[in-house]
Amino acid sequence: MHNTPQDILIRRPLAVMTGLRGDAARAGAVDIRIADGRIAEMGPDLMPRPGERIVDASDCIVYPGWINTHHHLFQNLLKAVPEGMNQDLQGWLASVPYPRLPLFTPELMRTAARLGMAELLLSGATTCADHHYLYHAGGGTESGDMLFDVADEFGMRFVLCRGGAIESASSHPGFSKTALQPETLDQMLADIERLKHRYHDDAPDAMRRVVVAPTTPTFSLPPALLVELARAARGMRLRMHTHLSETDNYVRFCREKYNCLPVEFVAEHEWLGPDVWFAHLVHLQPSEIRMLAQTGSGIAHCPVSNSRLGSGIAPVPQLAAAGVPVSLGVDGVASNESGSMTGEVNTAWLIHRAAQGAGATTAEDVIHWATAGGARVLGLSEVGTLQVGQAADLVLYDINHPRFYGFHDPALAPVVAGEPITVRTSIIGGRVVVDEGVVCGLDVASIRAEASRGVADLMACA
Ligand SMILES: [Zn+2]
Repeated sequence: MHNTPQDILIRRPLAVMTGLRGDAARAGAVDIRIADGRIAEMGPDLMPRPGERIVDASDCIVYPGWINTHHHLFQNLLKAVPEGMNQDLQGWLASVPYPRLPLFTPELMRTAARLGMAELLLSGATTCADHHYLYHAGGGTESGDMLFDVADEFGMRFVLCRGGAIESASSHPGFSKTALQPETLDQMLADIERLKHRYHDDAPDAMRRVVVAPTTPTFSLPPALLVELARAARGMRLRMHTHLSETDNYVRFCREKYNCLPVEFVAEHEWLGPDVWFAHLVHLQPSEIRMLAQTGSGIAHCPVSNSRLGSGIAPVPQLAAAGVPVSLGVDGVASNESGSMTGEVNTAWLIHRAAQGAGATTAEDVIHWATAGGARVLGLSEVGTLQVGQAADLVLYDINHPRFYGFHDPALAPVVAGEPITVRTSIIGGRVVVDEGVVCGLDVASIRAEASRGVADLMACA
């Protein structure tokens, strides 16, 4: 890691949002003192102490860093691939990521990961959970290590959701084109155990976590092994994550093959609980919402990707009302064209109001989902909110720009106005990771050149 924690005093912000709910959602225009990587004090007119770095926040609003709970970083070199622009999920999988998977060299993977993490940081994210599934029998497992390495380079809090497939994946539409062969359960578990031993930290403010995350429970492995995997995960005290009910095709497949709804299927295979969260959950019956709520199973809501692929709109207001833990994820940028959490929160705020009326979401709801909600599904209880004692993961948005002049309530600017908005400073565990709008340690000219070369390489399969 390139920098060290600093003692910092953030002075005179225009507003501070806490990530909490109700009256506690706003802390007012308070100063924030950071010491030993934590929020030490919040209050008006705090006096500087010797050795503190003073950050003038007088043009800024302060948020907890966004917590992105579902991503596929390798896709950062697959934005706006022409063949996939007008496809649904199945057509897009078959024409955009799957045919290009064999072309991903370790160098391209690293470039994609660096680009993705830089974009996330510049949108105000401070924690990323990446669902990484590029594993196959006979192939290397180093890409998981590489992702931890890149997260360390940028100082980002990182959760590796170790994906992959066990069954002959020919039943997964498009997967047969990938040339990736599924692993055995033993191979998958051996790598997860290795990753756990090397990187995993149980602490509520962990910088590194490992999660057990087969790519899709109904396609990626035989049902009996799904149970074995769940038991192994719980035996290792690792959380569990996977895709579920992204499209109506998915629900149809589950009904035809297993004669049940997807949430019923995962329930039968021990894949519900407060240690599980699912990406998407777009198509749900009321009985499934009740099952998710009763078990404390969470969602990574990905509204931009769901819109982009025409998958539908997840019933998130209903999930939240039922008590399901809600978080937000950008999903892969090959089905988003952006890895911005600010774009995601803006869409989440709008899309449910469009579908269900003006009472469906508030800006404060969405901030809560994308901060404290993310921390909850990841089990990182000491991040995601701005309160004394919490880890110092926070973002200063600079709103000194004509776009934001005229705001009566500038505190809500990133959610209600969306992008562009500038992250002037971002701090993770007391380390400054974005300084004056620049990602520390990132050479923009060189990442641009690497990305251009990567796009050229990945066009080779067209
Ligand atoms: Zn995904």
